[in-house]
Amino acid sequence: MELLRDILLNGELLEVEKNVQWARRLHEGYAQILLEDREFCALLASYSTEIERSRALMEELGLPGLCSYCATKIQGGGCCGSHIATWYDPIVLLLNLLMSVEIPEKSYYEDSCRFLGRDGCSLKARYHFCVNYLCTRIYQHLHEDALTRLKSQSGRELFLSWQLELFLMDFFSKRGANFTGPDIPL
Ligand code: SF4
Repeated sequence: MELLRDILLNGELLEVEKNVQWARRLHEGYAQILLEDREFCALLASYSTEIERSRALMEELGLPGLCSYCATKIQGGGCCGSHIATWYDPIVLLLNLLMSVEIPEKSYYEDSCRFLGRDGCSLKARYHFCVNYLCTRIYQHLHEDALTRLKSQSGRELFLSWQLELFLMDFFSKRGANFTGPDIPL
C-alpha cells in the first residue's frame, strides 16, 4: 500500500514538474515580448487587481483561517490534495511567472498539492477548481449574501484568466510554439 502510494505520488510529481519546467521555458523565451504587448499587459493588470479583490474579500469573510486549517492540519492537504497540481498546465503556470510568482520546488506539506506553501497557496493565477470550490464548512460558515458576493468575485477573476489563457494560446499558436508541453518527460 505504501509502495503504491509512493509510485502514484512520484508519477504525479513528474507530471507536475514537466509542466513547471515547460512554463519556465515559455517564460524565458517569450516573457519580454508578452510584457511589451499593451493588450496583454492591460489584461494582466486587471487580472491581478481581481485576484487582490478576491483575496481581500476572502479575508473579510474569514476564509483564510478556515482554508489554512484544512490545508495545513489535515493530512493530504484537505481540498489541496496532491493530484490537483497535475491539473495545472504550462499556460496557467506561465501566468504566475509573468506576475513574478516564485513557484516553490516542492510542497511544504508531504502528500499535499505541490503548490501549497506553509501558509496557503503559493500561486496567484489558479485553476478554476481552486478559485470556485466551496466546501461544506464554508457553506455552513457563510450567509447567503456573502456566498453570492464570493461567487460573483470568483467569476470576475476567472473571466479574466480565461481571456488571458485565450490570448496566450492564440499568441503561441501564431508562432507555432508548443504551449502544452512535451508528451515525454523533459
Ligand atoms: S493550487 Fe493552491 S489552492 Fe489549488 S490545490 Fe494547490 S495549493 Fe490548493
